[in-house]
Amino acid sequence: MKPGSGVAHAAALLILASTPAAAAKTLDIYFIDAEGGQAMLVIAPSGQTMLIDAGWQGAEAREARRIQAAMKAAGVKRIDTLLVTHFHPDHAGGVLPLAERAAIGAFLDPGPSVETGRMADRLKEEYEKARGALTPRRMKAGEKIDLKGVTLEVLSAGGELISSAGAANPACAGTPRPAAEEGEHRRSIGFRLTYGNFRLVSLNDLAADLEHDLVCPADRIGPAAVLVTGEGANATPFLAAAKPKALIVNNSPRKAAAPPSVRAIAASADLWQLHFSYAGGQEANAPDAFIANLIDDCQGKHILLQARQDGSFTITNSRQKYAKSY
Ligand SMILES: [Zn+2]
Repeated sequence: MKPGSGVAHAAALLILASTPAAAAKTLDIYFIDAEGGQAMLVIAPSGQTMLIDAGWQGAEAREARRIQAAMKAAGVKRIDTLLVTHFHPDHAGGVLPLAERAAIGAFLDPGPSVETGRMADRLKEEYEKARGALTPRRMKAGEKIDLKGVTLEVLSAGGELISSAGAANPACAGTPRPAAEEGEHRRSIGFRLTYGNFRLVSLNDLAADLEHDLVCPADRIGPAAVLVTGEGANATPFLAAAKPKALIVNNSPRKAAAPPSVRAIAASADLWQLHFSYAGGQEANAPDAFIANLIDDCQGKHILLQARQDGSFTITNSRQKYAKSY
């Protein structure tokens, strides 16, 4: 042993104790740029992985390659479970290209598509091919999936909602129930992820009338520090009841800009966007630091959320590593 190596060793131990051990205790979520669709890679502290939607098919398996890049960044070799929220091309189109490139252990979905036509038939065919001999599990509202310490609770699935009775929601006053929306959005899986005191809610593209029923007249969901939004409704009664600290918008330059209700609540919560949105101009967008991709010809940068059991969390923009802790 060289003189002085004991000191160096002690210093190395200190560094070890203050970084990787603490980092290993986080729930990590990669919001992958799916150009206005959705692909969300969830990695529980146990190492269990769940992918929620696989985005579009894209030219040359664009989304599958972006998902693989996130898996590589996270040091993850396989997708233990793939959850398909609903069968639309911006959520399920990337499933087959991904299955051709990465191992997927199990499939969860809201049941077969209720839509017809060429696109619906193609998605059905590709989904069957992707899962091979695996039988998908049909999710039910109220069901809980245990990711070893992290729980995914299904709030909506197949047109059904959780039945829990919550407190009256004052934000419902003056907000009429929207007209019923048919098709896959009616059946979309909305969920809550819970890790200790941390809560994230995503209703995905859930039909506006069903979102309304989840929070009006009584709120069945409760607060959530982080909301994930896409082209779903995200009306005021939902946003007011959730009281989020941060909203993550699955958008593209021209698709799924944050609705005005989201921008209104963004005065008290941070808006993080996968893309700069041309709809609405600069004032409709978050500051550049909170936007993962600024231009059309984007690099497919992701947003990383790391949550701790005490409810605190950090969001990092992978484009320039800007990070903010909550
Ligand atoms: Zn959809």
